[in-house]
Amino acid sequence: MLLAVIVQCSSCSTRYHLDDDVLGSKGSYVRCTSCRYVWYQEPPIPSPYALIPLPQYPLVVVQPKKTPRRGQSFFLLGLCLILAGSALAGLFLLGQKKLSSWLSQDILSLMDKEVVSPIQILNFSFKKTLSGVVCYGYFHNTSSTMRYVPPVSIYFFSQKTLLQKVQHKFHHLAVLPGEKKSFYLNLDTKWTDISSIEMKIE
Ligand SMILES: [Zn+2]
Repeated sequence: MLLAVIVQCSSCSTRYHLDDDVLGSKGSYVRCTSCRYVWYQEPPIPSPYALIPLPQYPLVVVQPKKTPRRGQSFFLLGLCLILAGSALAGLFLLGQKKLSSWLSQDILSLMDKEVVSPIQILNFSFKKTLSGVVCYGYFHNTSSTMRYVPPVSIYFFSQKTLLQKVQHKFHHLAVLPGEKKSFYLNLDTKWTDISSIEMKIE
């Protein structure tokens, strides 16, 4: 006669009548034939009342999971190195500038599509004064909602040479949808040989 114990799978709760010889004196790893869950089953405390016939589908005694074989781990390590190497090569080939502009564009487009300014600069001109220059023109809101004028960059050129670049913020200058709002900017500059000025929304 075999001594049998009732063992329950803690994953799917299937119950088994298990021959204690299978577990041995120290217990064993067993696998549930219903859900394939593996656990360590301690041997039962012998009981004369547990004489139950063995079921049709018994538990299967298995070896504990082995760590990946050496060859496998070397293969994975190699694969990781190749991937990392090609990623680095990709970064190098793309070039920092190209990549950063691509990244920032991508991030901006993800963050907020409104980042691309619908405000345009129209009829921009400038006049030299004794202390600097006066810039004037219009901000045109091409969108259908009210907008604030974003910061602008102003480039001072002498022929084709960039002399100076300045940033200017229009604090809370709102433009209504479709509106053309005139602006007038008095800028100090030490440069006297300015031949052209460009203003950009960036
Ligand atoms: Zn199970």
